[in-house]
Amino acid sequence: GASPAPATAPPAVEFRNVEVAYGKFVAVQDFSLSIEKGSFTTLLGPSGCGKTTLLRSIAGLVDITHGQISIGGRRIDDVPIYQRNIGLVFQNYALFPHKSIFDNVAFGLKYRNVPKAEIATRVTRALEMVRLPGSERKLPSQLSGGQQQRIALARAIVFEPEVLLLDEPLSALDANMREEMRVEIKKIQKQTGITALFVTHDQEEALSMSDRIVVMNAGRAEQIGTPQDVYDRPATKFVADFLGKANMLEGKVATVTGSVASVTLTGGQSVQITSPRQLSVGEAVTVVVRPQMLTTPPPPGASPLRGKVVSSSYLGGRVIYEVDIGEPALIRVNTAISGALAAEGAAMELGFAPADCVVL
Ligand code: ATP
Repeated sequence: GASPAPATAPPAVEFRNVEVAYGKFVAVQDFSLSIEKGSFTTLLGPSGCGKTTLLRSIAGLVDITHGQISIGGRRIDDVPIYQRNIGLVFQNYALFPHKSIFDNVAFGLKYRNVPKAEIATRVTRALEMVRLPGSERKLPSQLSGGQQQRIALARAIVFEPEVLLLDEPLSALDANMREEMRVEIKKIQKQTGITALFVTHDQEEALSMSDRIVVMNAGRAEQIGTPQDVYDRPATKFVADFLGKANMLEGKVATVTGSVASVTLTGGQSVQITSPRQLSVGEAVTVVVRPQMLTTPPPPGASPLRGKVVSSSYLGGRVIYEVDIGEPALIRVNTAISGALAAEGAAMELGFAPADCVVL
């Protein structure tokens, strides 16, 4: 978020050294995270990395085996589950099929003994917010998947929870609807100023919606940062690979001249790189290069990499080439194109500007 909260305000959610074990299997280890009020935070990682477990631990659906979790400065161990002020949205909507939309959305308010007249006003407002005004009398089955997910969202925000938890809410929707709902959820989160914690394995969702991303790997937080931090400056190979399928070139530093170094790759070719970190001759490094940073021909001043085209996929205005440059993995190039595509088997020279890489 842009405006810093006053120093006295506790974080909306705080995990401290949290561990969750299912029997002997440790699903989450030493997880610490402080979530600012009003922010949108995403837990991003592959299936099985512990994202859902963390979300469920806030809601009290899973017991933590070590550490502590606080909501608004209060340890949740001290708050019974039914008193936790948490909104939940799941992948499969989980609406009550035989209740009207009104009753579905009103559920959390009735449960909290909100007066009838206020319930009506708040339900109307929530349905307007998710752009389904007037749908009070319908049944869930009369709505599309995307609309049902909007109702699930309305139901979760109508009682103004301290935290909104979203567990892969878009994964059951088709591609177009998914993109529309991304924008929609983000808009509603901003409008209401609600603190949101979102779980996904989809990097595009994470990059486009989040203030902060927690990249998770095997039960641990691998990197925490803004979308640009984790994309442009991945801290580990795992993060670089998970976000955007970066090329990873293994090699040894051959020369260092000021801030520019030359790296000899496994297959014998050389690349020029710059790194904020001091490199020393002979050091083994991984050079991470995004497919979009590579061009053919190489940019002026870059050392060219020579290879053979293995495949090309035309995307309209852009093309992705896979090129064999004599390294263990093919290198992916994603570049603008106006003329003819390079043929399979053709020789190609490609390269990147020395600053357009991350050295690990
Ligand atoms: P997915 O996107 O597939 O749900 P995830 O990152 O959300 O993955 P979790 O559902 O949190 O992962 O699961 C983390 C690990 O804990 C997995 O290896 C899973 O098999 C295991 N696990 C989850 N729930 C239980 C359970 N109730 N009992 C035993 N193991 C579990």
